[in-house]
Amino acid sequence: MSPNRDSITAMTEAVQAFHDKHDLKGRGGEDLAYRVALMAEELGEISACVTKGKDTESLAEECADLLILLMGTAIAADFSLDKAFWAKMEKLMTRESRMINGRIRVSEFRT
Ligand SMILES: [Mg+2]
Repeated sequence: MSPNRDSITAMTEAVQAFHDKHDLKGRGGEDLAYRVALMAEELGEISACVTKGKDTESLAEECADLLILLMGTAIAADFSLDKAFWAKMEKLMTRESRMINGRIRVSEFRT
């Protein structure tokens, strides 16, 4: 593993090692529809942390679960999450923001 634990490369390598350890690719764990269901499950756990007033440590753990799944989905679908992230950030930084019902929304506002 890369010594820089903050890098997305090191994190992706760790997720790849997890996939390899359990042979996720060979045992259905990289099926995209299944992964979407798992990600929805983790999003629900994040939601429960907020709605049930759980502590920040619990919220952080559930966010990590979702991030690990997202990184694994990039592995399964064979794309660079790193490249996708920076391409999207560049787009987001050009977008307008509006206040909608008291909350900021950053979007293309096409309609
Ligand atoms: Mg979880």
